[in-house]
Order: sequence, then structure tokens, then C-alpha cells
Amino acid sequence: MTLLMNGTGVSRGIAIGPVRLLHEIQPQARRKKILASQKRAELNRFRKALSRSEEELSTAKEQLPTSGSGTVISILDSNIAMLHDPALVEPIENYISEHLYSCEWALAVQRDELFQMFDAITDPYLRQRSLDVEETIARLLKHLKRRPAKQKKTTQSPQKFVLVSKNLAPSDLIQQQHAGLIGAVTQGGSQLSHTTIIAKSLNIPLIVHARHAMTLLDESDKLIIDGAQGTVIVNADAATTRSFKSQQSSARKARKQLDSLKARATRTRDKQQAHVLANCSEPADISKAKRLGTEGVGLYRTESLYLNRDELPDETEHFKLYRKLITKLKGDPLVVRTMDVWSSRRAPGLEQHVPMSRQPALGLRAIRLCLRHPELFLPQLRALLRAAHYGPLSMLVPMVANVQEVRDLLQMVDVTKAHLQRQRFAYNPNMPIGVMVEVPSAAISARLIAPLVDFMAIGSNDLTQYTLAMDRDDENVQPLLDPLNPAILHLIRETVKACDQHDVPVSLCGEMAGDPLYTRLLLGLGLRQFSMHPSSALEVKRQIISTDVGKIEKIARAMIRANSPLRSQRLLERINSV
Ligand code: PEP
Ligand code: MG
Repeated sequence: MTLLMNGTGVSRGIAIGPVRLLHEIQPQARRKKILASQKRAELNRFRKALSRSEEELSTAKEQLPTSGSGTVISILDSNIAMLHDPALVEPIENYISEHLYSCEWALAVQRDELFQMFDAITDPYLRQRSLDVEETIARLLKHLKRRPAKQKKTTQSPQKFVLVSKNLAPSDLIQQQHAGLIGAVTQGGSQLSHTTIIAKSLNIPLIVHARHAMTLLDESDKLIIDGAQGTVIVNADAATTRSFKSQQSSARKARKQLDSLKARATRTRDKQQAHVLANCSEPADISKAKRLGTEGVGLYRTESLYLNRDELPDETEHFKLYRKLITKLKGDPLVVRTMDVWSSRRAPGLEQHVPMSRQPALGLRAIRLCLRHPELFLPQLRALLRAAHYGPLSMLVPMVANVQEVRDLLQMVDVTKAHLQRQRFAYNPNMPIGVMVEVPSAAISARLIAPLVDFMAIGSNDLTQYTLAMDRDDENVQPLLDPLNPAILHLIRETVKACDQHDVPVSLCGEMAGDPLYTRLLLGLGLRQFSMHPSSALEVKRQIISTDVGKIEKIARAMIRANSPLRSQRLLERINSV
């Protein structure tokens, strides 16, 4: 009998295959004390579990397909880093050696303590990170129990299956994909979890919050999962299966057709030149971006240099990274955004120098931090000026809120150039300098800022957050964070107009740029440079190529005056059907 279950689709795509259940190994976390004479052996057990966990994560890294993005690698690296984190490891060793707890008990006590700490945190992103602690402890408990069986090497391709589990760790997802996983359904999970980010990156359909999936399904069932809709169809009839198979093959064909666009110029039907650029945050992202036909990097986020480490990157580390990126890009343009580390981006090294703000999203971050603490910014600024000597590198500074900040920034750049000159470093005195428009005041002052800079980039994620006064990481307001809000469209249009008047190039690099639904609207508002996650580049390019800007400009401008969300939706549909 066919059964329909609903969950939340968090990674798109259709998968059809038999169920494989992933049962959790129930860790024995009983209160158990050891004898003093067993202390050394117990500590050894714990350390072995640590090294086996690390081995498991490193294997997952090796098993990544070549398309595995830098994001996936950095997630696994941060999981490995957690195994070395003294805040996790030292208390456990202490429970064993001082209080004579068994390993299992020590792990359980430490897990509960960390959870209590996480419970006190209101930031939803940081709360999500408690999943990382849970996963790390579960992994350690698993490795205390037994050494996981090594996967047998086989020349046959593995049988494909849809994995059903309570929860799924990022490393399990990668390992199971290697074993034949084509899609996954979990009872728990979330949109913000690392597992979700990895599933999207690896194009694996994933449905979370499918309640009772482990109870209702068994391994004789066959599933169709639709990651866009969040539906799970159990034992579908032949006609339904045929229909989903045909959807799958149309999607495959559409992907192939998209490939043929790589060689085409990014020009609208009425011959207006546009550009499709990539957002990247790891060197490994660049090869993927190039493969997917992007024309350069419109936003390179540098936060990964600061995250999850106790020290700050020095000038040499910055310089080596930027040179590496230039080499990888082989002459394509590279826009490096200077540091923007705040609440959801933990950087212990930075936090030693700057106290955490009460409201970090509104606190001392990005350009504000750079101007207040030049000693923290100078290594990056100097490295950028030096690297720009070797290729087309531009510097982009985030979170500008007023004209004076831009003047102060430019003065700091001039002083830094003079120092580099005196110290006889090779550098580019003409490195283009741009600022991000993410704060409504910057959009409103765009006419005053544009003449001072070489280019501007609209960060629609933050622009939406600050215009609507809604925390972009707060799940409760997610449905209300509407980028079609006429106020936001107005600010985008005003920024583009100001840049055009001063002949200053302007791009948009928030999530909106990568959503083909908004491509025509943005073209109609005058935008010509789109920077996005590389995986959406070809779909956006297809939209650009199919657009006659002359025909949609009026509708786009009408959206700035739309007086209800319904009217906005209708106008958007009209734009996309012209
Ligand atoms: C933005 O705010 O739109 C942006 C691109 O920056 P981030 O998402 O890194 O804050
Ligand atoms: Mg931003």
C-alpha cells in the first residue's frame, strides 16, 4: 500500500530506491566508577577513541567526490578541530583521572554540561552548533565500543539506497554516499545543520523532520523522496514511479542543456552585457566555480581564516592565500572581502582582542572593527595590496554605514601604501577598492559614497536583515524575511542608479543573486553583475540570456510601488513569463 509522509525538504532533487535504516548505536553511559589502578588504561581508551574518530573524519574527507566544495572540507576540518578542543577534551580527562569516572560516564557528564551552556544561548546558529557537540560525543562513544569495520574494497558499483535515520552526521552522509546512498530522510535534523549544507553541496536530496520515519519504514520498503517538496512516497504504484522517473530524467536533461551555456556570452536578448560571478570561501571552491562557467570571483569571504582557531592569521598567511587564489583564477577577476566575523561566526583568536558585543550583528564588526583596531586589520590590508601586484585582485569592505567610514578607510589604505613603499615591498598602488551596501544608510547615501570608491557590491542578505529589522539567523522570522519587500527593491534600485551616475560598477552578491526567480527582476532594476554560489550560475545565466530587458523594466519598477505581497508575487510572475 502506498503511504505518503511529509517532512521538510532541505536539499532539492528526487531519489528513488530501497530503504536502508541506520540504527544508532546506543551508547552505554551508565554511572560507573573505575579503580585507581585502571586510570591509565581508561585514559588510553579515551585517546584511542579520539584518534579513531579523527581517522574516520579524515577518511570521509578522502572519500569526497572531486566536486566536494571547500565548505564541506572546512566543516569536516572543524569537526576534527573539536576533537582537539581543550574545552571538550580536558574536562573529560579530568573526570577520568581525578574522579575515576569510566570513559562513557565522563563523556555523558561533559555532554550534559556543554548542553546546559548551549541552552543558555539565544543565538539560533550557535544553538545549532550543539549538534556538533552531540555528534562528536556520539562518535567518541561509538569508537569506545568497537573499531568500525573497514569497508571492503569492491569493483562492483554499490547498490543504491535511500538512508533513513534518526539523525545523520555529516561524515556519515559522505561515507554512506560512497556506499551507494542517493538520498536521505531523517527524523531530526535542521535547515541550518552541517549535514544539510553538505547534502546541498553534494546534490543529495535530503528531507528532515520526517517524524516516526524509523518506526514506519523498514528495509523492504521502496521510497521516492522529493527534496524540493519535502515528500516521502512509500511503495508508490507504477504510474507514480514512472512520473517521478520522468521528472528525474527531465532534470538531468535540463542540467545537460545548462552545460552547453558555459561557452555562451552572458548577454540579454536585447544585447545588454551582464556578468555571472562566484561567491567562494575556500580555495577549493574556485575550481568548482570555474568548471561551472563563472567569470571570476565576485565575493571571496575571508572569515575561514579566523574561524575556530585561537590565534589570528598573520600577513604571510593572508598573502599566501590571496596569491594562491590569483594563481587558481588564471587571470579572472578576484574580489576579496575583508573580515566580517560576528555572532554566528566564532573566532576565538579575534575574541581575545575584541569583547563580544551584546548584539554582535549590530556591534563592532567588519569596517567598524577595522577602523577601531587597525592592528587587527593591517595584516590583511597589507597582504591584499601586496598580492594585487600579481593579478586582478580588488578589495571589498563590508558593512559600511556612512561616508566618513569610507574616507577613514581610504586614508588608512594610503598610509599603508606609503609604508609598503618605504619597506620596498612590491604592491599594487591602484588596487581597486569597493564597499558593500548592506546597511540601509549606505544605500540611502550611495550617491555620496559612489564617487569615493572603485566599485560597490550590494549584500542583499544583510540589507534585508537590517531594512526589515529581522535576524536572518532566527528560524522564527524566516518566512517574513521577504526580499521582494518594496523597501528593499527601492534601496537596490537607488544604489544601482547612484553607481550608474558615477560610472561605478555595482554587483549584488547576496542569496538573491543566485535565485533564478529574481534574475529578471534584478535586471529590470538595472543590475548587470550577479555573484552567487557557483552551483546556481548556469541557471541564472540561462535567465539572463532569455531576458529582453526593455520588456520587463517597467514591471520591475512597478514592484517598487507594489502595495501588497500578493501584488508583488503577481508582478514577479508576470516578469518571469514575458
Ligand atoms: C550579504 O550580506 O548579502 C553578503 C553577501 O554577506 P554575508 O552573507 O557574508 O553576510
Ligand atoms: Mg553580509
